[in-house]
Amino acid sequence: MSIPDHLALINKRILTAAEKAGRDPSSVRLVAVSKTRPTADIIAAFQAGQTVFGENYIQELVPKLAEVHEAVEWHVIGHLQSNKVKYIAGQVSMIHSVDRISLAQEIDRQWGKLGKMCDILIQVNISGEVSKSGTTEEGAIQLVRECALLPHIRVKGLMTMPPFFDDPDAARPCFAELRRLAEAVAAQQIAGVDMKELSMGMSGDFEAAIQEGATLVRIGTAIFGER
Ligand SMILES: *Cc1c(COP(=O)(O)O)cnc(C)c1O
Repeated sequence: MSIPDHLALINKRILTAAEKAGRDPSSVRLVAVSKTRPTADIIAAFQAGQTVFGENYIQELVPKLAEVHEAVEWHVIGHLQSNKVKYIAGQVSMIHSVDRISLAQEIDRQWGKLGKMCDILIQVNISGEVSKSGTTEEGAIQLVRECALLPHIRVKGLMTMPPFFDDPDAARPCFAELRRLAEAVAAQQIAGVDMKELSMGMSGDFEAAIQEGATLVRIGTAIFGER
């Protein structure tokens, strides 16, 4: 199957999952994860109607920013080192993986130089697994509070990556927990913070994530094939 065929299939599965959950399908956006894929694949997906692309590695994203002239929207979804932020300032519309205040401060500084705002999500390590990045659940509210004070950052919601992402049943409690945490943060009514976005669900478990309220699903393999 071609990239457009895979995309059509994934969009249909998103629609079905949203309807099954009693949700408006337009409340779920697809982030096509294009890490390790050539720009030709990104352009093929764009021509088939896909506009949002997620990348993990800054050294890979920077040449793509220069090569892709189509009106795509870039999201950073992977672990981000503060010293790399300057290379992408003003060029990506959302960063899903903010897990520490020092990173948020650097994003604020770099976007501030351009007089622009950056939308961010707080990455939370729901499972508590040591190898995964993300703030703890307890640390999330404090981090949101600190980010809310930064003038060039808008906190839009939360992101998580469960350790067992190939088993949708095992991941589902993690998704439910992220949603509960977002509700708890929203209840704090922190000025300038909204908790509308829940970035969760990948190729193996996005339907379960949609059942639990995902608004951004990050799908790579099921669109572009095995990496
Ligand atoms: C690679 C990656 C994805 C996509 O994973 P697939 O299983 O290929 O769909 C989603 N989120 C993050 C953070 C990733 O690193």
